[in-house]
Amino acid sequence: MIHLEVLTAESSVVSTDVDSVVATTVDGQVGILHGHVPLVTVLQPGELVLRTGEREAYLAVSGGFLRVTPRGIIVLADACEYAEEIDVERAEAAKRRAEQLLEAGALETDEATVEAALRRSIARLRVADMYRLKTRRRVLPAP
Ligand code: ATP
Repeated sequence: MIHLEVLTAESSVVSTDVDSVVATTVDGQVGILHGHVPLVTVLQPGELVLRTGEREAYLAVSGGFLRVTPRGIIVLADACEYAEEIDVERAEAAKRRAEQLLEAGALETDEATVEAALRRSIARLRVADMYRLKTRRRVLPAP
């Protein structure tokens, strides 16, 4: 097991022991198990998957930093929500808003901000989908 802390400016979102973590970094997805080499990396908007035994939890992280030390993993996130807390309509509205602004092409200094908002909304929608698919699989009768 490896200890995981996920912190935002507002709260501690996760403080638990897990078997493994998969995080979305600027260099792609990274899987972390107990004994991983020390690491500091930058997260991009995406999913954080926690596995413990047969259980999996999905979180959307909007960016931040991930640090692995011999004591565990620390994620400092700009924002982070468990899949089941994601307001899908809000994320869809944020995605539409960002897409419309980018399509209108009236942006100059703001473009990176709007693109970041678009990536956050896409990450939230993907994590909400992962959760929906998982719960759907669970309720299907055995073949
Ligand atoms: P919006 O434009 O809808 O506010 P945003 O990407 O600008 O989205 P953030 O600045 O990343 O929002 O987050 C602000 C706060 O709102 C954070 O606490 C974050 O966890 C929460 N949040 C943002 N979008 C959602 C969502 N779709 N569902 C649940 N919580 C959300």
